[in-house]
Amino acid sequence: MASADMSPAYEMVIGLEIHVQLKTRSKMFCGCGVEFGAPPNTHVCPVCLGLPGALPVVNQQAVELAVLAARALNCQVHRRSVFARKNYFYPDLPKGYQISQYDRPLATGGWLEFTEEGGAGGRLSIHRLHVEEDSGKSLHDRFPRSTAVDLNRAGVPLVEIVTEPQLRTPAQARAFLGRLKQTLEYLEVSDCNMEEGSLRVDANVSVRPAGSGEFMPKTEVKNMNSFSQLEKALGFEAARHVSVLQSGGVVEHQTMLWDPLRGEARPMRGKEEVHDYRYFPEPDLPTLEVSDELVEELAGRLPEMPWEKERRFVDEYRLPAYDAEVLSASRTLADLYEAVAQSTSDPKEASNWVMGEVLAASNDLGVPVERLQVDPEGLAEVIGLVAEGTLSHNLGKQVFRRMVETGKTAEQIMEAEGLRLVSGGDQLEAWISEAVTENPTEVERYRKGEEKLLAFFIGQVMRKSQGKADPGRTREALLKRLDQG
Ligand SMILES: [Zn+2]
Repeated sequence: MASADMSPAYEMVIGLEIHVQLKTRSKMFCGCGVEFGAPPNTHVCPVCLGLPGALPVVNQQAVELAVLAARALNCQVHRRSVFARKNYFYPDLPKGYQISQYDRPLATGGWLEFTEEGGAGGRLSIHRLHVEEDSGKSLHDRFPRSTAVDLNRAGVPLVEIVTEPQLRTPAQARAFLGRLKQTLEYLEVSDCNMEEGSLRVDANVSVRPAGSGEFMPKTEVKNMNSFSQLEKALGFEAARHVSVLQSGGVVEHQTMLWDPLRGEARPMRGKEEVHDYRYFPEPDLPTLEVSDELVEELAGRLPEMPWEKERRFVDEYRLPAYDAEVLSASRTLADLYEAVAQSTSDPKEASNWVMGEVLAASNDLGVPVERLQVDPEGLAEVIGLVAEGTLSHNLGKQVFRRMVETGKTAEQIMEAEGLRLVSGGDQLEAWISEAVTENPTEVERYRKGEEKLLAFFIGQVMRKSQGKADPGRTREALLKRLDQG
């Protein structure tokens, strides 16, 4: 079976076509609402159903989001672009054509920088970015032995981003897409949810002798619904090309469908004959004009981008590059970090807590950071209580977790649940006595010189106190007790 390892005699050539659903309230050319998961065919009208005589009107919000994306990707935004009909027949396309853009797209010639895991960087050129409408969805699992069509998605605004074929490894493709997704999320132009299909990636793959500049026959791979599946699919396809070439064959130009369950790509059957889309300018829509003023206004609305935030976090808070990268993963996380950092005197400690405890809470509770209830000042307070020794680190973590779960303040939780360090008194003495009397053998060994057993006794006390014993005081008290022969 083909594997992801490729002979060093060959190199891959990968180009990507990415479809991104724009986060608009309504569809691209009509007033129908956009809502993922709505009951089938409840967001439709004469325009998106393609009924005769219904005329499209351009959604201005979609155009603005597309221009924002184009600017962030360093593209040249064309003041005039043209909608075109892409004609093909498929049941989920009620008009018999898709309104897209063809020879005069909204934007061309951009680039985006990305960093691979391990630190290698790259810059991928973007060939074009254009606006179009989505098709409906064929549902194969709704009724036995028949296919149903849901047209809620028909007419939803998309941008299609086409890269140059400059990627050389599946890992590069993954790293680029990660950066692209993060960028579009920062811009709030799309949810970029691969599972719900608001970010869809097709890849053009070919393989050639390493160092050769020629372009070999390529295949198009579809149906990857996560970054890791994309990486696997590209590796699979490249290995398949290599084995065809090595056996003296020629790679056939075709569309391959990735099967994530079997971990293999198979040729798509049926509708994939060579297409002639017979593009022509859309007669029902005027030229799309984007004024200088609008482009300028939108440029002013560009947020601080993730790579800018990363640099600033390193400069302003003296964070390691790794922390800056993790914290900038999303705007919500970055904003939360900054709010905590500004309420404490220790930005690095704030980073440790946000990267550690906030992300752990999000993970354990199964709630995305965006919806997690974290009061930045409350977290800063916990960090302060740990720094001054009122809470141990472990207790601080417990208090913080309860804050997230209940929305109560640190003070309320410490009061109600007795989460406070015990640094003396009968309680601490009782735990210590138990730890000593329950372990006579260890006591004897300790007294014969095995001093490292002190850590064992501290551990015993910590367990009995469920982390509430003050570690410093426990150590002192234990030393005293154990040294009294
Ligand atoms: Zn409609």
